[in-house]
Amino acid sequence: MRQSELFTKTTKNLPEGEESKNAQLLIKGGFINKSSAGVYTMLPLGLRVLEKVNAVIREEMNAIGGQELLMPTLIQKKYWEQSGRWDVDVIYRTGEGVKTEKDFQYGLGWTHEEVITAIAKHFISSYKDLPKAAYQIQTKFRAEARPQAGILRGREFLMKDLYSFHTDRADLDDYYQKAIGAYKKIFGRLGLQALVTEASGGAFTKEYTHEFQVLNPAGEDTIHYCETCGFSQNQEVYKPEAHVNCDGEVKSGRAIEVGNVFKLGTKFSEAFELRYTDASGAKQPVVMGSYGIGPTRVMGTIVEVYNDAKGILWPEAVAPFRVHLVMLGESPEVRAEADKIHAELSGLVGESEVLYDERNASAGEKLNDADLLGIPMRLVVSEKTLAAGKIEVKKRSDPKAELMTFAEVKKMFK
Ligand code: ATP
Ligand code: MG
Repeated sequence: MRQSELFTKTTKNLPEGEESKNAQLLIKGGFINKSSAGVYTMLPLGLRVLEKVNAVIREEMNAIGGQELLMPTLIQKKYWEQSGRWDVDVIYRTGEGVKTEKDFQYGLGWTHEEVITAIAKHFISSYKDLPKAAYQIQTKFRAEARPQAGILRGREFLMKDLYSFHTDRADLDDYYQKAIGAYKKIFGRLGLQALVTEASGGAFTKEYTHEFQVLNPAGEDTIHYCETCGFSQNQEVYKPEAHVNCDGEVKSGRAIEVGNVFKLGTKFSEAFELRYTDASGAKQPVVMGSYGIGPTRVMGTIVEVYNDAKGILWPEAVAPFRVHLVMLGESPEVRAEADKIHAELSGLVGESEVLYDERNASAGEKLNDADLLGIPMRLVVSEKTLAAGKIEVKKRSDPKAELMTFAEVKKMFK
């Protein structure tokens, strides 16, 4: 991708009141654009990052038997009434809808237990139909009271929501552990250290649920955790005496909830009469679990964790491009050399993984932009490197650059 052709540019202008670091850096870099409080556009650069996050999530969801589907966002009132969730604070309710159907009020999807349970009724009737698991990656809507944390808390945001269906508690418990394993892999691959943290089940269950919490000052939660034994509890359920058989110190810190897993039990299967016939011919309620991750919040969390005074430092797994090739100076010789390197590099790592800054702009502007955009590897071609017969190579995370021959550079990407 040639940078001169990019739909966006970097900017110094921030919308008023945008104080969170993730939003500031993402807006300056041209990854996102703010539409209104808690509502953002994913610009081409941001969407590239988000799609890489989603790809990792999809792989790990598929690996535990999740099948991807896509549910509606426009959800009729009757679904929410059936579970008793029409009156929640976060739901956006539509007006009257189509004139001839004025009873058809809708709530925008803020979570999908109701819809998936109603769907499952069509396909689950016997113990032979279980277990099953399905997920989607979809825009959710929530009337959040204070969306002040950039894409960490949106009124419109992306969620991966997986739902599982089981004959009994034991099978749910087993799958729940598998889901926790998959989540650990996901966050590990995305460069995030997420602590599996006990939290309240709210209206769903008296048991603990588990949140995946990334320690960071931008977080809105407080957790109490031990680095020695892995103990971690959300403030809302914390009992110091629960930390047993370990001499490690319990520390406290702010954290961002990037995901969570819930044992729903039979709450929704009972509300929607989702039953199966067991081996003896008796009717039983299906036992369910639900498992969420917020890919947009994950993206914001990565920015909160990986940044410095100059900009973002994307982990390789989610970087918008693998390589940033920057041409400095405007002599025809430099441009010819940079063009040649661009073509070869594209052949090596794929055209779509190279951002080629061939703009006519000052060296200062181009290098500042490169730091802001945070692509893990920067290659500079200039009069100086041309004279040396080399290329300047710098990792975004390294303070120093070094000169390498193109052959050596190519080896790095093999
Ligand atoms: P929180 O406690 O932060 O309000 P939640 O417990 O309501 O979130 P869930 O309903 O379980 O969250 O949603 C699953 C995941 O979706 C969360 O773990 C989080 O990653 C993401 N998420 C939830 N609300 C938002 C939001 N307003 N903006 C961005 N991501 C969100
Ligand atoms: Mg929560």
